[in-house]
Amino acid sequence: MRRLRNVKIVATLGPASENYDMIRSLHEAGADVFRLNMSHGSHDEIREKHRIIRQIEKDLDSPIAILADLQGPKLRVGVFAGDAEELVPGASFRLDLDETPGDATRVCLPHPEIFEALEPGAHLLVNDGKIRLKVESCGADHANCTVVIGGTISNRKGVNVPDVVLPLAALSEKDRADLEFVCQLGVDWLALSFVQRPKDVFEARALADGRAAILSKIEKPAAVEAFDDILDASDGIMVARGDLGVELPVAAVPPIQKRLVRKCRAAAKPVIVATQMLESMIESPMPTRAEVSDVATAIYEGTDAIMLSAESAAGGYPVEAVQTMDRVATEVEADPTYVQIIAASRTAQGTTVADGIVAAAREIAEKTDIKAICCFTQSGTTALKTARERPGVPIIALTSLRGTARRLCLSWGCHCVMTPELERFKGAVVNAARAARADGFAIETDQIVVTAGVPFNVPGSTNILRVAPCDERLIYNTDPG
Ligand code: ATP
Ligand code: MG
Ligand code: MG
Repeated sequence: MRRLRNVKIVATLGPASENYDMIRSLHEAGADVFRLNMSHGSHDEIREKHRIIRQIEKDLDSPIAILADLQGPKLRVGVFAGDAEELVPGASFRLDLDETPGDATRVCLPHPEIFEALEPGAHLLVNDGKIRLKVESCGADHANCTVVIGGTISNRKGVNVPDVVLPLAALSEKDRADLEFVCQLGVDWLALSFVQRPKDVFEARALADGRAAILSKIEKPAAVEAFDDILDASDGIMVARGDLGVELPVAAVPPIQKRLVRKCRAAAKPVIVATQMLESMIESPMPTRAEVSDVATAIYEGTDAIMLSAESAAGGYPVEAVQTMDRVATEVEADPTYVQIIAASRTAQGTTVADGIVAAAREIAEKTDIKAICCFTQSGTTALKTARERPGVPIIALTSLRGTARRLCLSWGCHCVMTPELERFKGAVVNAARAARADGFAIETDQIVVTAGVPFNVPGSTNILRVAPCDERLIYNTDPG
């Protein structure tokens, strides 16, 4: 599906978005990538959402990426008899190991290691830090707390204990089982929660064994410190501001976001800015001015993608939330200041032939009336490098590998098109011109840039740049190859 913006939209699916019609509406409204959160919902529910997404992809004949988000060593409360409870400041609230559904006085916290480490006076933060509990007394299987900041607490909300160091493994038994499950289903991206070191990424990569690309969620101070090495080990990054803003002072998050986004672009790896982007739209059809500004800021910074969590998974206005992001993106990208900022933050990168070709493609597109940069890519690297340039014209990524097309749906500006395996460059140019015309990027009298590697189907071999007409008769008459 053709988008009129470059930044991509990731929408989390949940109870508010689980049937075909709703998921299709989200895609049509602008969601390029769907996130399945393994913390919520059974394997059967995940399988069903996965099936629906693949069906929509088939019905609309356009690739869609699926991102499975592993829970990781995230601490969560259990469930409540009535799904949710209201906690009022000053009230007592007990956390224990009893799996009986909770109520207004207690709930299960199924993590004995927390109780081991807790001490009176420590604070527990629930639901991205919205609720604050103070430990009054505790034992090996419970903690009696006072509610300091109240609010609604509901099933499986996340818990942070910033005052206490917990011995956590990167992948739990559940994560390993979930990873195998989603890899067998066939997902394009695996998001790892609470990554602390490159080793965590290597571990998941070995288990995924090439079946999915690996995206590291940055939500721990340790991950911010080891960021360069983690980026090196990963295929993509998520700035997971929810937990980051609890583990670190909230005011530390915006500079980190800016720095990480720039580093990811320089490394030609996609980055997602996530959490609370349009939080008020869980309950309202209108975003706040501040939220719109936050979404716009992430786009001005040059992020590849912006994400909806509860807004699309559990809110009352999932489609409106996607539409809001789409509109903000269209508006920002049309702003001359955006173009200036993006150009000013471009870094000189790489010394390979492909690096030279993508830079040249961007320059030609800037200086002449070119309608699109069409790049043939197998591993996806050339498309990623082209996206790193942030050219002023659309990028059409052509590939014969469905997995590559899907994965690139997360990357800035990449419009992904499946193409048959090609043997000759002339055929490639014809296919590129057809794709550009078919999807409304160009008409017969226009010109496009085509990049490819000859011989075909050798990864990392991009070595040709051709400015081609979109008229097929002209291609045959003028192309030497
Ligand atoms: P994470 O730390 O991984 O972001 P989260 O609990 O914040 O986890 P999100 O996916 O960011 O979850 O937000 C989704 C919201 O929708 C949560 O508030 C969650 O409680 C709610 N929800 C309920 N059921 C589901 C489901 N099946 N899938 C996803 N979210 C669900
Ligand atoms: Mg999280
Ligand atoms: Mg979240």
